[in-house]
Amino acid sequence: MEYGFFNGQFIPLESASVNLEDRGYQFGDGIYEVTRVYNGKCFALDRHLARCRRSMRELRIPITYMDEELTAIHYDLIAKSGIKDGTIYFQFTRGTAKRTHAFPDQVIPNLSMTIHESTPNRQWQEHGMECLLFEDLRWLRCDIKSLNLLGSVLAKQAAHDKGLQGAIQFRKDTNLITEGSSSNFFIVKDGLIWTHPTDHLILKGVTRSILFEEIIPQLGYTVVEKAFTPEFALSAEEAFVTSTSLEVTPVIAIDGHTIGNGTPGKITQSLLESYRKLIQKECYQA
Ligand code: PMP
Repeated sequence: MEYGFFNGQFIPLESASVNLEDRGYQFGDGIYEVTRVYNGKCFALDRHLARCRRSMRELRIPITYMDEELTAIHYDLIAKSGIKDGTIYFQFTRGTAKRTHAFPDQVIPNLSMTIHESTPNRQWQEHGMECLLFEDLRWLRCDIKSLNLLGSVLAKQAAHDKGLQGAIQFRKDTNLITEGSSSNFFIVKDGLIWTHPTDHLILKGVTRSILFEEIIPQLGYTVVEKAFTPEFALSAEEAFVTSTSLEVTPVIAIDGHTIGNGTPGKITQSLLESYRKLIQKECYQA
């Protein structure tokens, strides 16, 4: 049986229901996180919890659970479900109240959490993804992991309509690439790793932070945190995306143009290898 957690209780997913006046449901007024479970252990959970708090602070949603409690609920869900390798989704909405745009008085945030079995897509990691370039239609606070995901949904669907695995978004006003539909985007050009800086136009990915803080310095690569155009990206030697679900996945073509020689690049592969080693260390050897 699949279990979920809602406001203090573990419940079978099939009997869970959303109040019609939950503000997440009516306004997308809430935030979420996706965390990964390897070998029954949470990977990089502290980083996700820190970002969750930041998103809540930015939207002025009161914090009603301590990190220790959220961690305990993660492990209870893992134990109840028996899932060893999967993803956990959790969200806080501002709460349930009669519909009105401004924040209602005395509303209590709703927390829900679900777990599903899944493993990273090894096929894509080995052979690379082909992506579509798509206009970034999102709002101007992409640094907040809010429930409003229509821009990403439309980008991903446009890619699927063309038989492609992912979408790389660019802002039409500046002609600059921001990020993937649900991932951060990187290129390797003249041996340097380029990616968009962490401002209001992208989400500061946990995977991106792990690469920057724990992997890239050890491997001795240089990062350029600067936005670039689609044309610049097409002339790159390598491209890749990062996310909790994709880990580090090569991108071998964009809009039908081959990147480099059309196979996963050496630097990309070394980053994935180091990332996997880190997972091994944290979740299999501890
Ligand atoms: N950007 C966007 C828009 C995303 O949705 C995600 C996935 N949550 C990421 C980047 C990657 O973030 P993370 O590495 O924390 O999964």
